[in-house]
Amino acid sequence: MIVMKFGGTSVGSAERILQLISIVRKRAEHSPVVVVVSAMSGVTNLLEEACNKAAAQDESFKAVVEAIARRHDECIGSIPFSPLVSSKLIVQVREPIQRLGEICKGLFLVGDLTAKTKAHIMSYGELLSSRIVAAPMEHEGLSPTWVDSRKTIVTDNQYLSARVDFPTTNKRIKEEIVSGTRLFIAPGYIARSNTGESTTLGRGGSDYTAAIFAGALDAEALEIWTDVNGMMSADPRLVRDTITIPEMSYEEAMELSYFGAKVIYPPTIQPAMAKQIPIIIKNSFQPEHPGTTISKHPQHGPYYVKGLTSIQDIALITISGTGMIGVPGIAERMFHALAQERINILFITQSSSEHSICFAVTRADAGKAQHAIEQAYEFELASSKIDPVHIEYDLGLVAVVGDGMRERSGVAGKIFSLLGENGINIRAIAQGATERNVSFVINQHNIAKALNVLHEGFFLSRYKTIHLFLLGAGNVGATLIQQIATAQRSFLEAGNLDIKVCGIANSKKMLLEPNGIDLTVWMNTLQEKGSAESFGMEK
Ligand code: ASP
Ligand code: MG
Repeated sequence: MIVMKFGGTSVGSAERILQLISIVRKRAEHSPVVVVVSAMSGVTNLLEEACNKAAAQDESFKAVVEAIARRHDECIGSIPFSPLVSSKLIVQVREPIQRLGEICKGLFLVGDLTAKTKAHIMSYGELLSSRIVAAPMEHEGLSPTWVDSRKTIVTDNQYLSARVDFPTTNKRIKEEIVSGTRLFIAPGYIARSNTGESTTLGRGGSDYTAAIFAGALDAEALEIWTDVNGMMSADPRLVRDTITIPEMSYEEAMELSYFGAKVIYPPTIQPAMAKQIPIIIKNSFQPEHPGTTISKHPQHGPYYVKGLTSIQDIALITISGTGMIGVPGIAERMFHALAQERINILFITQSSSEHSICFAVTRADAGKAQHAIEQAYEFELASSKIDPVHIEYDLGLVAVVGDGMRERSGVAGKIFSLLGENGINIRAIAQGATERNVSFVINQHNIAKALNVLHEGFFLSRYKTIHLFLLGAGNVGATLIQQIATAQRSFLEAGNLDIKVCGIANSKKMLLEPNGIDLTVWMNTLQEKGSAESFGMEK
């Protein structure tokens, strides 16, 4: 059995759905398959918007419901179906959307929204997308069996981020997924409480649904099909020249996913890890790319650091004072106060002098956290045993992750010297005893710079790169370029120095190439591709 989960962009249009089917068809030739799907991209957000607006008695909820209807209609309109399949599907899509409109009208009238109703509404996205994907599969003769995840996945009553009752769920999945059938399709994200109400597994939870199925069925593999080529060495939106990490351990994947790399929903890893089922992250836009395999015994390859991640916009809260030294229970009270307010601690350090504890939370939680701490230490604050709580904003958190850092000396040294050489000041540092993750807090505006500097240092090469921009390409300039071209290789080999000429300008034209201009043909390239800007140099 193979479980394949397809994310929102992989079911986002008729074209994507047909691509999904061709990927599934190949797998289904060799093994029974369970396909788990997300809602079409953006739909869960629209559902949330619709119910929030309706409950706020904002009439524009109607336009949002219409947008949801249009999105699905357009998709169905462009998939080829037999008339029979098509009429069945239209009912399967129109009816729930009509019901959605009616529920929203009800919310508008009463002006109220409970978590229970919200979970019910948010479940429509996956119900619709799974029906829409099943129909063309049926049309193509793949005979999928649609499985209602609300019947198979049983949870508690935390409607919007429910906890799974594994013994019951595993039993139900085994009853539902029977041998003899080759292809099943199930909506991700949605479940039902033990008292029979709709629940969801938290935003991004379709990955988790797939892992729950995989775990219950002892699947051979759990494939997560998304729109990127696996787990990258860093976020490509912030870092240049990121690479796909071909293999990593469950623990590395967990560290990276908890820490902001949004490729996989963190709880997904646990059910797969418990049964040692490999998780393979693949790109449905580029199915031939090998992606990333997460397993118990990965080949670590040349990299001992596997990834860099960051969280933006955090606040650092410091509690300090002489009244904290050697007093047991101080940290316990802090954790308790924060837990009661359901505040998530992202990072924590305490110096061995015990004089201060500092921890990081999201900016949104900072005010609540300060209040909770001030109440918890009311007595110590009043008697000056603890100093006033100190909060700093506009900070970001960066983590360097990799199993290979364990028992290897010099990694922390390299991290901090790279940052130091580039003028980035570190506010706080934490390293877990697993040595798999070194995290530190810096100013928010330095995040992209820190990530790029570390990425170059750990992934790109052992070389130091110098970027040059040459103004003037006459006799002298051309000779200099010629000399650089001749020396480039020997500098690289002898001195680990990578000289990149990224810009050349003469009096008429300017050529810019961030990855380096090919100096063997620079004259032609400047002539042909250079822009007509000249930096105002005299002829
Ligand atoms: N549709 C849900 C969401 O957007 C679940 C998922 O896509 O995994 O959060
Ligand atoms: Mg997702």
